[in-house]
Order: sequence, then C-alpha cells, then structure tokens
Amino acid sequence: MDWVRDGRRVGSLWWRDLQSLNVGEDGNEGWLTEGFRMKIGEGKGVSFWWDEWCGENCLANIYPRLYVLSTGKEKDCQQMGEDHNGTWKWNMTWRRALFQWEEEAEKELQKTIEKVKISPGCADRWEWIHSVDGQYSTTTAYAVLAKQRKEDDEEKIFKRVWNPTIPTKVAAFNWRVLMDRIPTRSNLFKWGIIKEVEERKCALCMGEEEDSSHLFLNCSVAKWLWKACTKWWGVKIVLQKECWPTFQHLRAWTKKTYKKEGWDCIWNAMLWTVWMARNKKIFDNAEVNLIKLFDLIQLRSFAWIKARKPKCYFNLSDWLINPTSCLDKA
Ligand SMILES: [Zn+2]
Repeated sequence: MDWVRDGRRVGSLWWRDLQSLNVGEDGNEGWLTEGFRMKIGEGKGVSFWWDEWCGENCLANIYPRLYVLSTGKEKDCQQMGEDHNGTWKWNMTWRRALFQWEEEAEKELQKTIEKVKISPGCADRWEWIHSVDGQYSTTTAYAVLAKQRKEDDEEKIFKRVWNPTIPTKVAAFNWRVLMDRIPTRSNLFKWGIIKEVEERKCALCMGEEEDSSHLFLNCSVAKWLWKACTKWWGVKIVLQKECWPTFQHLRAWTKKTYKKEGWDCIWNAMLWTVWMARNKKIFDNAEVNLIKLFDLIQLRSFAWIKARKPKCYFNLSDWLINPTSCLDKA
C-alpha cells in the first residue's frame, strides 16, 4: 500500500475514508486509529522520537529529558543507527555528557529500542491489531465496533438493574439474564458444555430451544405467568421478543418512580421464580405448578418491598388484591 505522509499521521485516500467513519455520534473517536500499530521495517520516514514505533507511546513522551538533550530531534529511525553486517546498532548522541541519572534513562531507552529490529530494504507498514495477520478487513473492523457497542450496552444495563428494593443476588441474576450470560441450555451448547442439539430443548416445556428470551418470555410457562401478573396489576402490556427490550418497555410503562420500582420487583421475582423452577425440574425432577409459581412471584415481590421499605402500611392481602394502591402508600 502506498502511504502518503500526512502531518504526523501516515495517510492515503483509503485511510481518509476510514477516518471519516471514525467519529462516533457520542464523540467516541479513535477506535479505528487506535487499532493500527506501526510495524517498522527500514525505519525511513518514521520519526525516532515522535512516532509510536516501539510501544504504545512515543519515545519523546516517555523520555522527555533525553529528547531535550538529543542531537537528533528531527531524525527518523534509519538515521539514528547503522547496519553492521546484518546487525543493527543504534547510535544516539547527546548535546553534552549525561549525568548519572540520565545515563540510567538512556540504558532503559536502549533496552526498549533493542527489542525492535530495523531491517534495511524492508518497508515500514501499519498493522491492524485486531486480526491475526495484521491486515485490515471490514469483518474485523465490524467485530471491534460490535464489541464496543456491547460494552456501551453493558454499562447502560448495569445502571438500570441496580435497585435497592431487590436482593443483590437477584439483581445480579437479572443483569446476567439481560447480558445473556446465564447457563441456559442454549448457552451451554454454545459454550461447548452440552454437545447434542436435542439437549438444547427447554427444561420446562421440552418444546423449543432454551435461551433467555424463550425461558422468561416465550415459553408457555412464562406466558401463563406474565398473563397472570398483568391481570393482577390490571394492565395490558405487550411483551417484546427479547429480555432487554421487554425490561425497558416495562419500566417505560409508567413514569412514576414507585411504580417503576414495583414493576422491577415483579420482573425480578418472575425471572428468579422461573429460574428456580427450571433448576428444580432439572436437578430434582420437580413438577411445575403454575399456580404455585404465581404465588411465589406475589410473595417474593411482597417480601422484597416490605423488607426494604419498612414504613409501607399494607399487608399481604392488600398486596394480592391491589398492588398499585399498595405502592401509592409505600
Ligand atoms: Zn419452554
């Protein structure tokens, strides 16, 4: 690839096209430029002090004192040494004799640069750090973006799940569900722990593949429980196909904080109850009783709210009959 010197950055048309993609809406710049590292060849045109050719920072930043004393501030790597029968020897000169502490810095600098081989006649090039062969490709660039997107989501999800009304272990479980990190049979298959395609089937209904969205939203058990919950609360809510949008949707349903907290309790109680029932069925071969599961959701959510809001003046029967009016009093 033909590189054109463009200030400190080496650039080409291709490079500029990519750079125009490099600025995110949220000012999240640099994911692309940071993905390239210089792979030094003959070192011609690579600034010894100012280019990042032997690590993640340039030498002038790491050794500012030595930079000031250098007689070769403007030199490229090729001009800073010589090839002796195939062995590269660095040749640094200073404006004056170095003090002892400066000599120590010089030794350290020598150690750093000795690791890098300068090869006369071999072109310098940029390497894309996200691929094995160092070649840039749209597939690997997309993977970087997707990972970044996921990290953004992770932060967003993390902020939303912590609610003082919910026991910590349950909130942590909710977070893992929303991040799709719980050991559903679908994930166990993906992680290579179960091998047979057949074994991916949902433990509760033995029908479809058991992933988070199936288990907590689309399974016949989950559907029955959601219907019972919405009837109990006197609301009509259309569930989404995936857990994260549903969780957001449920919270968006009301602007009132206390109702949001109440719905958070139901969501968490639902997830926890279904997961416990699924485990009991797998490990103890326990029967799934829908009425009992619904009772558990009601009891758990009641216990959580009562435990963390001791000034709530309502009792269990109030909660079972009219949960929203109980939250008005909370
Ligand atoms: Zn199922």
